[in-house]
Amino acid sequence: MRGVVFEGPHDVRVETVPDAGLLGPEDAVVRVTLAGVCGSDLHIYHHGDGLGIGPGSRVGHEFVGIVEEVGEAVRAVAPGDRVLAPFWFSCGRCPFCREELFTSCLVGGCFGFQNIWTAGGPVEGAQSERVRVPYADGTLERIPEALAAPEHDARVLPLGDVLSTALHALSGARPVPGDVILVQGDGAVGLLACHAATLFGPSAVVLAGHHADRLALGRRLGATHAVDTRDRPDALAPLLADLTDGLGPQVVVCAVASPASMRAAYEAVRPGGRIGWVGMEVFSGPPDIPWDVAFLKNVTLTGGVCPSRRYIHRLWPLLERGVIDPSPVFTHTVGLDDVPAAYAAMAAREPGWVKVAVRP
Ligand SMILES: [Zn+2]
Ligand SMILES: [Zn+2]
Repeated sequence: MRGVVFEGPHDVRVETVPDAGLLGPEDAVVRVTLAGVCGSDLHIYHHGDGLGIGPGSRVGHEFVGIVEEVGEAVRAVAPGDRVLAPFWFSCGRCPFCREELFTSCLVGGCFGFQNIWTAGGPVEGAQSERVRVPYADGTLERIPEALAAPEHDARVLPLGDVLSTALHALSGARPVPGDVILVQGDGAVGLLACHAATLFGPSAVVLAGHHADRLALGRRLGATHAVDTRDRPDALAPLLADLTDGLGPQVVVCAVASPASMRAAYEAVRPGGRIGWVGMEVFSGPPDIPWDVAFLKNVTLTGGVCPSRRYIHRLWPLLERGVIDPSPVFTHTVGLDDVPAAYAAMAAREPGWVKVAVRP
């Protein structure tokens, strides 16, 4: 079968890789119908070697598909079922899984991050024709009947990572109706944080980013205000002051986590406010946290890697009823052959390219 392989910085290729097959009684094999290219895949693309991911590593951790084969111990899914995978597989029964902290599963791991985040043995990348899923019962979510058709794949796929990650940042920061929510970052997670923020009844959702096309998409998804902080770095503070009587937003979602954005989050948030922190740039350097500000304002910092499976089942009914629709974050759909070019376009932040879906 064919799959996307990281061969070195700025070099991903589509190669013939070993067929996915059952290795244990709790495994399933899923034929991928739609996969995603994530901002965190771009970290591998840019400096996978620095992350400990070597040449020859399979990539991709977002996928929906159809179960083809299951091991003898699998009970929750069967061949023919349409399923969504969270980006982290998990056993479903260890102490952390029982607390719904699936990303700390004692035998779990992340698809497409070979060698670094896998306590459960070798795992494959999702940007491929098929994927072996360890601990299928504790990992896979059956897609509800109303959404179980190929035309819904682009609505379903973001629940496995980017939408649940956005919701993880928000729910940890506990918005209440009437709050002003500031979202930093106009990547897929930031855009979907604007979308998910609408579930909490905010009085305003302010998106801060660097790209006119993405800011426009953020407005479409739920932002009430959007500010280009590269073109107009001085525009954000007066807007937030205006919306909050000078007090600052109650909630800040930090979906960039660059050192500078973390400092900006602490400076923007109001005393007693909450910062929901997601995003992976922390792996390239420590965030710039102004500890004096954090102390004097009594700021709560929450977030981290998202245990997506905690959120997926709560999102199904909202997706079914059309209350949410995250599919607009996919600006392009490509076949496997075009994946290397898609990585290059996303990495270059080419206008109009936010997130790519892959139909293997
Ligand atoms: Zn991701
Ligand atoms: Zn577990």
